Order: sequence, then C-alpha cells, then structure tokens
Amino acid sequence: MSFRIVLEHQTLRFAAAHFTTFAGECEPLHGHNYALSVEIEGELTADSWILDFGEAKALVRDICAELDHKFLLPLENPALEIAASAAEFEVKFGARRYVIPRPDVAQLPIDNSTAERLAEYIASRIASSLRERGASNVTSIAVGVEESPGQSGWFRRPLS
Ligand SMILES: [Zn+2]
Repeated sequence: MSFRIVLEHQTLRFAAAHFTTFAGECEPLHGHNYALSVEIEGELTADSWILDFGEAKALVRDICAELDHKFLLPLENPALEIAASAAEFEVKFGARRYVIPRPDVAQLPIDNSTAERLAEYIASRIASSLRERGASNVTSIAVGVEESPGQSGWFRRPLS
C-alpha cells in the first residue's frame, strides 16, 4: 500500500529555447512555456505525510529556476557537434551553427531535449535531492513535462 502527492503545473513552470533532432533532421530553434507535474509516492511518516508540500514545491522550483530563460543543450546528442570555450558554446548541425553565451545555456546530460528526456532528467534531480534529505519513505517519483497544453512526456522512476 502506498500514498501519493501530486504537484500540478500552475506554479512549476519555466520558459526555455531548444531544438530536437530526429531521423537525421533538426528542428528550427524555438521555445516553450514548459509546465511540470510531479507525483511523489511513498509511505507516510510519523506525521502522516509523505513530504511537506512546501518543501516539495521549493525543491522543484529550484530546478525550474535553473532551466528558466535558458537554451536547453543536450550534451550527449550524437547528431550535434558541440564545442565549449570559457565564454560560449558552439553548436553545429550540418551547415547550421549556433553560438550561445555560457550563462544562457542549461547543460543537460541527455541525448535529446524531448519532453520525455527532460522528464527523466528532472525526475533524477528530484530523486537525488530527496535522497540527500533522507526521505527514505519515498518509493517513486514521476515527472510530466508539458510542452504545449495537452501535450506532455512522462518518466517514472524509483527513488534509489
Ligand atoms: Zn520544442
């Protein structure tokens, strides 16, 4: 038996630029007003909750703040040529070339900035943060990343 808390997307948002690659193609640069949904499942503590809602929201908001108003750079994308200097990133796809100042880049250890991969990345960040806080009653975390209203990618993982 387990319980679940759900954080809905109204306050868990970030705006970011990206493009994905697919089947040898590369989308044009564009942006989304991303909205997150987070589900945290687990056993109740002695205080009869899984996790304080305020604490859970603050944790997810910190991750949103890191991604807000950034270019989402998938560092492990094999279709992109990525070169980093002290001041900027150069990202090439065929004849297309983008040069982006470092402070404007969110460097992500993913192979493509799809909603599914962003959900996986954010779920892993939440899991690390909960482990650090010793929230051993939490059993699983699910994250939904909505790119546009009614269109989201989800990832679910155990805490450990
Ligand atoms: Zn997009």
